This record gives sequence, C-alpha cells and structure tokens, in this order.
Amino acid sequence: MPEDQLISVDDVLALLDAQVEPRSAAPVALTEALGCVLAADALAECDQPAFDRSAIDGFAVAAGAVAGDFTLVGDLLPGEPAPLAPGQGAALRVFTGSAVPPKCGLVMVEDSTVAGNRVTLRRAATEKLIRRQGSSVRAGAKLLAAGDRIGPGEIAVLASVGAVRPRVIKSPRVLHLTTGREVVPADTMPRPGQIRDTNGPLVAALLKIAGAVPLPPHHVDESVGALVAAVRAAGDFDLLLVSGGSSVGEHDRTPQALIALGFELLVRRVDVRPGKPLLIGRRGKQWAFGLPGNPVSHFVTFHLFVARAIRRMRGLPTPALRRARLSAGTSFSPHVRETFWPARLDALALPATVFPRHWLDSGDLAALAGVNALIRIPAGLAPVAGDEVEVVACPESV
Ligand code: AMP
Ligand code: MG
Repeated sequence: MPEDQLISVDDVLALLDAQVEPRSAAPVALTEALGCVLAADALAECDQPAFDRSAIDGFAVAAGAVAGDFTLVGDLLPGEPAPLAPGQGAALRVFTGSAVPPKCGLVMVEDSTVAGNRVTLRRAATEKLIRRQGSSVRAGAKLLAAGDRIGPGEIAVLASVGAVRPRVIKSPRVLHLTTGREVVPADTMPRPGQIRDTNGPLVAALLKIAGAVPLPPHHVDESVGALVAAVRAAGDFDLLLVSGGSSVGEHDRTPQALIALGFELLVRRVDVRPGKPLLIGRRGKQWAFGLPGNPVSHFVTFHLFVARAIRRMRGLPTPALRRARLSAGTSFSPHVRETFWPARLDALALPATVFPRHWLDSGDLAALAGVNALIRIPAGLAPVAGDEVEVVACPESV
C-alpha cells in the first residue's frame, strides 16, 4: 500500500470486521463471566426446581383433603428433606421453599386458623401451590446458547443448575505504551514545555469500559529500539496500543517500531477528522494501533476503531450507529474530511437530540468533558439544527 494512501472510515471498519477474530474460549468462574459471550451451549446439570417445593406459607395435608379441622403434627422447615405425606386428618406447617412430600396438597396460611395443635382450614387442599420438580428446567435442557451474552439474569440461571464454570470467549489482553519526551506523569508538575500525560488515564478508562484486560502500561522513549524492547518485555498480548508518534515527523517512530516488531501495516492514514495519522498493524492474530497523540484524536479513534476491534475479539456484535436530531442553534462549516464531532446525546428526548460541544481542534482536551457521542459529519456537508445525523455512542461507564 502506498505510504500516503488515505483510507476512508468505512473501509477501515470493513477491514476490522473482516479480519479481527474472536479470541479462544476458556472456562471461567461465574463471578468473572458477566458481560462475556458464551462459547458453548450451557446445559442444565439438574432439574429446576430440584424437588417439589411449596410456593406459599401454609399447611400440607393429604392430597384431595377438603376444608375442615386437622391436627398439626409438625413443621417442614425450608432446607429439610421432605418427609412422608401427612395422613388423613393431619397437617404439616410449610413455608415458602419447603420441600413437600408427594401425594399432598397445600392450603395458604391466610385460609387457616390455628388454636394449639389444631388448625382449621377453610379451603380444600390444592396441588397448584406446589412448584413441581423440573417444572422450570429439566436436567440436560439447553439453558443458554453459544453466542449468548451473559448478563445478571444469565448468571442467576447458570448458578441455579450448578453451571458455575461456563466456557466463555476470553477478553483481549491489551498493552498500552505512551510516548513523547514532553509528556510527564499526571501527578508531576510539568516544567515549561512539558505536558501531563492524559492519554494514559484516558486509555485505561476506555479499556475498562470496553471490557479488555489491561497489561501494565509503560511510558517509552520515542525510539524504535525503546519501543521494540518495551513490547518484547511485556510478554503475550492480543492488542498493542501506542499513543503518539504515529505521524511522519522526525520523532514519530511508531510506524518503524511496528514494522520492526513484525507487524504488517494495513492502515497508515485515515480520511477522518480528528485522527488522520492512525496506524493499524497485524501480526498473526495480534493487532496494533498507533493512535495519534492528541487527546481528542485518541478519544475518537478509540471509539471508532479500537473499541470495535475489542468487541470483535470478545465475540460481541458491532453496534450500529444511532440517529438523532441536531440541537437548536447548531451550525457547522463543511470540511474536506469526514468529521466525528464531540457531543452530548440525550437519547431519552423525543426525538433523540444531540448537542455538539464547543470544540476547537484535536488538542482541545476540555471539549471531552461530558461527551457521550460523536456526531458523524460527512465530508463537504454542513448539517444544521433540526437535521437528522448519525452518532457514534461513547459509553460512559462499565
Ligand atoms: P504525537 O502524535 O506524538 O505527534 O503527539 C501529538 C500531540 O499529542 C502532541 O502535542 C503531544 O504533546 C500530545 N500528546 C502525546 N502523547 C500525549 C499524552 N500521553 N498525553 C497528552 N498529550 C499527549
Ligand atoms: Mg510525540
């Protein structure tokens, strides 16, 4: 590919969709499974309920018993195995969840009066108040299918039948390196000419929301040797993110470093604002992104491309763009490149409305506060207030 070829956003997305593969699968503890995609069908190990259970607080009597007076012969506490069915004229006190014997019926406590060891039941016993063994799920039944996403409800279903180590697609391990001799840690007072590292904390937060496994990040000298050494020292990873140095300046070493590491560079420049000097490389199943160092470029290219690659590695579908109305008072100037403009989306408004942030350029970090969407402005167009536009959602929390 010619080094200066500009690739459209849609072509980059198509490339990622065609080439980034889901990671392999492994069994995980149920506590780790939230948000993961199941790699294999989950089958019920046992019936659910596993035994006949009372759905009420009340009394168990012989099946078919009619209203009348009974002798109270004991309590069936939840957690105890079911005894034999009570004989004619006898009643057992039951509680919600008590195991109940076969051949009995139940009467609710609301339909009873107790006096000493006698209980008067004002209704005939019914079996409808019993949750029968296997009435919800039969042992061996398919509870969830490969490809299903595990949310809180799925966690509870899996737990109910003892499927406590489901096979899921593993989350990608991501190595993030920052570069730039002007960049100092955020807890340091910058000297004149220096700036605080914002890409480190930004990417850490974005990776958390994206459900990736972060490896320890490093700040690296912007030389090919230092970058190569840092990557080699980091061990195994699925995705490498290098902040800064992705352009063609004298000190931009990320392209050469990726090539030296054996990555094939599939993308060097994207026809997008902000974020044009974006690198994407591939080495077998591993992927690398060289993200332009400016904070807004970082934010935009992560949401457009990196988040998508992570979703694909996690086996998740890629979300479609949303549509929303441009808020009152909005006007843009046409630009030669397709633009993704930082904005606040009110998805609950009718119609959904998007409010562009005041935004100067790719270094205008302050514009990122409150951003939960990017407005897609096609090259050469200038949508105005009330127009319907496409927006990329930027999730704000895990
Ligand atoms: P670069 O892509 O290396 O040319 O950097 C573009 C701009 O982003 C420069 O103004 C850098 O100072 C700035 N920059 C690079 N890395 C960081 C970082 N980790 N945090 C904040 N700004 C950065
Ligand atoms: Mg730099």
